[in-house]
Amino acid sequence: AAKAAGRNRVRLFTADLRTAAQRRATFAAELREAIAADELVLHYQPVMHLPTRRCSGVEALVRWQHPSRGLLPPAAFLPVAAQHDLLTPIACWVLGSATRQAVAWREAGMHLVTAVNISASHFSTGTLVRDVQGALAASGLPPEQLVLELTETSLAEDVDRAAAQFAELRRSGVEVSIDDFGSGLSSLGQLVSLPTGILKIDNSLVSFPEGRRSEAAAAIAAVVALGRACGVRSLAEGVETAEQLELAAELGCTFAQGFHIAHPMPAGELAGWLAARPGLFPLPVAG
Ligand code: C2E
Ligand code: MG
Ligand code: MG
Ligand code: MG
Repeated sequence: AAKAAGRNRVRLFTADLRTAAQRRATFAAELREAIAADELVLHYQPVMHLPTRRCSGVEALVRWQHPSRGLLPPAAFLPVAAQHDLLTPIACWVLGSATRQAVAWREAGMHLVTAVNISASHFSTGTLVRDVQGALAASGLPPEQLVLELTETSLAEDVDRAAAQFAELRRSGVEVSIDDFGSGLSSLGQLVSLPTGILKIDNSLVSFPEGRRSEAAAAIAAVVALGRACGVRSLAEGVETAEQLELAAELGCTFAQGFHIAHPMPAGELAGWLAARPGLFPLPVAG
């Protein structure tokens, strides 16, 4: 009887595994179709330039408007995308959509630098530079209005190759930033070996817990100083309170981003958000 029960358990277990694998495969197939069917959407989070207190740009953050599951955050589908070689197709969709939107804002008189998140795997496919230049050419966006954000230590596997691509992108006028700096995913080695323009200081340093202000300040100041010494500007991520915003400004961060300034929003809401805050309105395009 015990044996039979054991066998049953095994059978149940494999059945569970199969359905889980099938569910993942179905989800991946749906995602593949979603890219083609334009079910992905970008939400944009304003970035504040601290010396002028103006909105200088936005970060494009991908979501999936799933037909039955609703609006899915990146954490719900990017891991599946990574397992099914869909990160590069998604990045190409994101680059196309974000650059077209940036041109539309530019034509409406809004001078916004758009930041796009890039996965480390895009560096190893070797198509990143071509894909970025393709999106710029197709949209007509000046390269100076695009920033590529990169996290992940996997770059360390082929740092020379990544550095060559960073350099080529920056030569063409596109800025490159290291995302989540100080989170443990990024390292000082990246800063030393990669030609970077912006360090995005991770939420974990910026949104300090009660009573830990001076410790957080020391950590942020260290990153800002390190950046300065390397000719790199700093952006404080995850600013959730007025106190955190003032601290970032005081410590010499060039930019800030976070829920205290604005949550990520659909493209169509940005003009209204800015119009309601005249002091934040981005500087008009020169000329
Ligand atoms: P990230 O690039 O570090 O983006 C910042 C994340 O923090 C966003 O989450 C944003 O909504 C959230 N956030 C912004 N301000 C605050 C704040 O004040 N407090 C807190 N607690 N959170 C804040 P989201 O949109 O869920 O994105 C999560 C991550 O997914 C991103 O982290 C990025 O690594 C990745 N991601 C997003 N879009 C893309 C994309 O198009 N391609 C790739 N490869 N990755 C993406
Ligand atoms: Mg980012
Ligand atoms: Mg980040
Ligand atoms: Mg982060």
